[in-house]
Amino acid sequence: MKYYSTSGSAPLATLEEAVVNGLAPDKGLYLPVSIPQIDRAFLRELPHLSLPEVAYGVATVLFGDDIDKSELKRIVFETMSFDIPLTTVEKNIYSLELFHGPTAAFKDVGARFMARVLGYFTRKERERRITVLVATSGDTGSAVANGFLGVPGVDVIVLYPEGLVSDIQEKQFTTLGQNVTALEVRGTFDDCQSMVKSAFMDSELKKSLNLTSANSINIARFLPQSFYYFYAYGQIKSIFDKRDISEIPEVVFSVPSGNFGNLCAGLVAKRMGLPVKRFIAANNSNDIVCKYLESGKFEPRASVATIANAMDVGNPSNFERILDLCSGSHEAVKMEISGKAYSDSQIAETITGLYNRTGYLADPHGACGYRALSESLSNGEVGLFLETAHPAKFRDTILDIAGLEVEIPERLAAYMRGKKQSIPISAGYDALRSFLKQSHR
Ligand SMILES: *Cc1c(COP(=O)(O)O)cnc(C)c1O
Repeated sequence: MKYYSTSGSAPLATLEEAVVNGLAPDKGLYLPVSIPQIDRAFLRELPHLSLPEVAYGVATVLFGDDIDKSELKRIVFETMSFDIPLTTVEKNIYSLELFHGPTAAFKDVGARFMARVLGYFTRKERERRITVLVATSGDTGSAVANGFLGVPGVDVIVLYPEGLVSDIQEKQFTTLGQNVTALEVRGTFDDCQSMVKSAFMDSELKKSLNLTSANSINIARFLPQSFYYFYAYGQIKSIFDKRDISEIPEVVFSVPSGNFGNLCAGLVAKRMGLPVKRFIAANNSNDIVCKYLESGKFEPRASVATIANAMDVGNPSNFERILDLCSGSHEAVKMEISGKAYSDSQIAETITGLYNRTGYLADPHGACGYRALSESLSNGEVGLFLETAHPAKFRDTILDIAGLEVEIPERLAAYMRGKKQSIPISAGYDALRSFLKQSHR
């Protein structure tokens, strides 16, 4: 499979080049030149397959030409070694719980897959070392650091703003050691992000260190997120089969969205042949895409802080991919995606209301997904919202707004017992540049 850039002026790339480059040289995002079709027979089999079996079936179609089959199988089975259960929340509304991985957020799937793919490519060229540079406001850093932990040939450097991430998030990337280094920046998340951007623009440094990014612009983090849409569809089918209903209602996915990697991966699944009726983009007050859906104008702006902070994104980076998958047409985007945005107080009342009615505790992101579904599902549709993080990751918020104590799962509690190790660094590219030069001499 070859990959093209959405900006249209970079040469086609192989999977390896696309993964190592991250962003295309013309600053566009990579997408497959043609989206491969999934077998109808495979779709019929879905209800009878396990999560890794489904993922391997989809991965073979996407990556089978570029990664040796037995290696790909190992990569997929290691990536998908945790459950993604489907929970009934209300009549015809289901939660797809993507938070049972090591750092309790859906980003574990893409981060683990990308780490293993990059490890596969560096193994083939023994001399090569790759440095993954990532700026985080919390969740991305933890998923990437854990995904890449111990992968030979790859160093991970996480930049995060001092005092601005939660304790549990900080512990998830500062206690690991091995090939993971945490830089504690005296500044904001925006400072961290602009330091990382400057490093990527520094072509001499980028080349000498083989710098790459691990956010959802990277094709190896983005594409595997399509796996669980297939699995979820199979599980829904199996629920209806058990009730002896052979025709399932039309399936709608509601996706809590920030950079829109997750939703866009669902769109890829649909293009591969998964029968999804439509998608809902669930936003917090950062409603840039919702506004685009209304007006046809895409107008990025500075993000505002909300209680669903993993979606505090003012310039959603995967928007270009969505537009490309819809041939650049606003009308076409609107046919498949609708948008709903919620303020902090609406998110809070949704969490409390849902819990009181059903006993289901959603995190602030999943709550947006749930509410968007409950407000727009019509007859003949069945809805799934992606529950993107474990509520324990937002323990203080939930205690605050709903007065509920969330129990911390053992895998998260274990991080809290680790010892924090970070390197303090001042904001600004000079400090990062000298750190990188010195540590890689
Ligand atoms: C990253 C994240 C999102 C947003 O996902 P995108 O792919 O950036 O749209 C939603 N919820 C949680 C919990 C996240 O960590």
